[in-house]
Amino acid sequence: MSTDGTRAVRLTRWGGPPVITEVARPVPTGEQVLIQVEAAGLCRSDLHVIDAREGALLYRTPFTLGHEVAGRVLERGPGAMGPAVGERVVVYGPWGCGSCARCAVGSENYCDRRTALDADRTGTGAGLGRDGGMADLLLVPSGRLLVPVGELAVVQAAPLSDAGLTAYHAVAGIRRAIDDDASVVVIGVGGLGHLAVQILRATTTARVLAVDVREEALALADQCGAHFATLLRPDSAAVLRDRTGGVGAVAVLDFVGGRSSLDLATGVLRPGGELVVVGSGGGELSVRKPGVLPPGTRISLPFWGTLPELEQVVALAREGVLKVEVEQFALSRALEAIEGLRSGGVRGRAVLVPD
Ligand code: NAD
Ligand code: ZN
Ligand code: ZN
Repeated sequence: MSTDGTRAVRLTRWGGPPVITEVARPVPTGEQVLIQVEAAGLCRSDLHVIDAREGALLYRTPFTLGHEVAGRVLERGPGAMGPAVGERVVVYGPWGCGSCARCAVGSENYCDRRTALDADRTGTGAGLGRDGGMADLLLVPSGRLLVPVGELAVVQAAPLSDAGLTAYHAVAGIRRAIDDDASVVVIGVGGLGHLAVQILRATTTARVLAVDVREEALALADQCGAHFATLLRPDSAAVLRDRTGGVGAVAVLDFVGGRSSLDLATGVLRPGGELVVVGSGGGELSVRKPGVLPPGTRISLPFWGTLPELEQVVALAREGVLKVEVEQFALSRALEAIEGLRSGGVRGRAVLVPD
């Protein structure tokens, strides 16, 4: 790496592939903070972003990928708030306007100015239209978006900012529905799903039933504390329903969002249940066709999570309650990691470490 340049994994055109290239070293001004990246998680959303058709997403290329980032504060702009130089932090990735009522309470994932930001093609946050953290350095708009992680290992910390936070926010949305003998089905035990299983076990009394299409994901579900894990098969709805004592699940967390997962979800839900669609697998649901959704189903489409929730997730990890299953790759091998995730070869979360 030269002294005035720095490496970054950039999406230069929709459809990819991304390129690893040298970019100018960012200089923090105003409230901005420059982070020396030490770990950046790879999410299936990165594949959706890379594969998107021109115009499908509300931001422009080129930009640096990477929305799950941990590292050290390297340099602060003259008006920066928050963590000091040298402090180890994780970056809260959804970047809103910072001043509306939602942003004021740390819910930048649901910024009131999102529609206006989208109209300007401003981008949703780190690595999503704005330069992200699959790089040596990351420029963060404000210190308000940083959460200190103390001695937590950086490869553990980075995935907390999306895989951990999104799973936690999804569970938070169904917590009030979970009573003593409630069953919750988790579909897709990958980066997000394996943490959802742990969060459900650590923070609720739910019986956790997990489904995946890969045997090794079932082994991971088991390791994370699922009460039961099964491969997706034509009779999965009946098998799972049986495990709920015949009544059905009080909630389904769908981390796939495809046709087969939504079919399974609607087949195992109990009347008045919660269908939480987190995955963006392109599936469709009919709310009109009789018999498709049980009566009283509440559907939610949670997006990422809030800053206070990220603090709670970091606290759980620091207590040793949450453990991310990590497959580590050197940043220079980012393209191999991306292909590995695409072919279903990653157990837990792939995390890139600058080399
Ligand atoms: P991942 O690839 O790590 O995990 C997906 C898991 O689902 C894998 O274990 C895979 O084997 C399994 N799977 C695939 N098809 C299946 C099926 N039909 N039935 C059961 N299991 C199946 O992905 P990830 O990074 O955990 O992301 C999961 C999804 O969530 C992606 O679509 C991603 O874009 C989305 N996502 C949404 C948000 C949000 O805020 N809503 C945030 C992050 C990721
Ligand atoms: Zn993501
Ligand atoms: Zn806002």
